[in-house]
Amino acid sequence: MKDTLKHRGMRNKLVEVLSAKGIQDKAVLDAVKTVPRHLFLDSGFEDHAYQDKAFPIGAEQTISQPYTVAFQTELLKIKPNDKILEIGTGSGYQTAILLHLRAKLYTIERQKELFKKTKLFFNKMNYRPKKVIFGDGYKGLPEEAPFDGIIVTAGAPMVPKPLMSQLKIGGRLVIPVGEDEQVMTLFIRKSEKEFEKQELGAFRFVPLLENKN
Ligand code: SAH
Repeated sequence: MKDTLKHRGMRNKLVEVLSAKGIQDKAVLDAVKTVPRHLFLDSGFEDHAYQDKAFPIGAEQTISQPYTVAFQTELLKIKPNDKILEIGTGSGYQTAILLHLRAKLYTIERQKELFKKTKLFFNKMNYRPKKVIFGDGYKGLPEEAPFDGIIVTAGAPMVPKPLMSQLKIGGRLVIPVGEDEQVMTLFIRKSEKEFEKQELGAFRFVPLLENKN
């Protein structure tokens, strides 16, 4: 597994594609330019890594499309040292992008095999989230709340209440909401009780699943 000049060239092209599609945040584009997305796919699929497409990563899950990752990350407006919760670790690519922006990151995955595989991969790559958790993202992470930002990377049939309540005042929740197709939704917490809501276009995600007990 290595990162070469060729891969870097392909990332520069991908960044051009994402800017043309409307991503403006320099720090986000810089993260895409830096994180070696091909290493998050099983080897043999590296030709797919720098196309702006989602891709299967096993266990019926996908690595999100680069545009979607950049779009959601931009909406979080991360400052260095912000405390961020990610629901749906998956391949860890979104995690790595958030770490590049110097977030203090907590990430939750409910699929055991993916959780194990991605956790090992983080160690190997020296990516250092604060915690990689095997658990149910619907519950959030009450023991570490409140968060400056929460990002959900699977389609939620409805907005889980715990995620709203675990946001700081001023904090941002970015969540795709819907069943077959999702509307990217941004909630900004204005006060203990008030949230501003923005709906930002249609996307398609694998579903946020409820844990069977
Ligand atoms: N950010 C990831 C996206 C992976 S797809 C990437 O780019 O690779 C969404 C992930 O959410 C899947 O890995 C899926 O297993 C996970 N997921 C689904 N429901 C969940 C839940 N209730 N809690 C935590 N993770 C969940």
